[in-house]
Amino acid sequence: MPMNIAIDGPVGAGKSSIADGVARRLNILHLDTGAMYRALALYVLRSGTDPDDEAAVVACCQKADVRVRYVDGAQHTLLGEEDVSGLIRTGEVSAAASAVSRWPGVRSEMVRMQREIARQADTLLDGRDIGTAVLTDAPVKIYLTATPEERARRRYLEQVKKGDMTPYEQVLRELNARDQQDMNRAVTPLRQAEDAVRIDSTNMTPDEVVETIIRMVEDVYGRKS
Ligand code: C5P
Repeated sequence: MPMNIAIDGPVGAGKSSIADGVARRLNILHLDTGAMYRALALYVLRSGTDPDDEAAVVACCQKADVRVRYVDGAQHTLLGEEDVSGLIRTGEVSAAASAVSRWPGVRSEMVRMQREIARQADTLLDGRDIGTAVLTDAPVKIYLTATPEERARRRYLEQVKKGDMTPYEQVLRELNARDQQDMNRAVTPLRQAEDAVRIDSTNMTPDEVVETIIRMVEDVYGRKS
């Protein structure tokens, strides 16, 4: 059985960078499942499809051909042969990803692909439904969170570094809107799995969070030399 680690949590909890840090330390794959929903959202936007039109979005899911490839251990997310890893990090794509991810026909297809990847190799998956739906048997489950204000502050500073001057208040508003949509959708909404360990990173450094998770993994799987 490959090693499987599940990390879920709301927008801006630092899942991706923490997951990267943990996966690098353990020398295992990191599957950023949000990137897959984002790639589909990009396809939907490009094709002029309304993200709220369930049947049309599910049809896009068949045509979009979302793929994940690893190059030197780093995830690349593709639409067919086009690497869209850099194009899916916009506010517009974030909002569309949250909209398209609420359709059951989309989720079943994404979950199928994610399980397939996790079955083949030691993998850490991060997302919204990993502990509650994708890998319900994962031996290590984490629910990573922080206060909305702290998550928005981190997201804001990250964006400023990239030259995106969206005001803090707007970042906080958009973050709360996306969390509300993700927590209130009908199918596998974002919530903490009963057997997940909650880590509130509001007052923790990224290194401290990585260390905490590594210790949890070592408790379950033993120390990797
Ligand atoms: O994690 P990230 O912010 O990149 O995810 C983008 C969107 O994709 C989320 O807001 C959520 O709606 C959706 N998502 C999901 N299930 C996952 C990962 C992401 O519904 N496992």
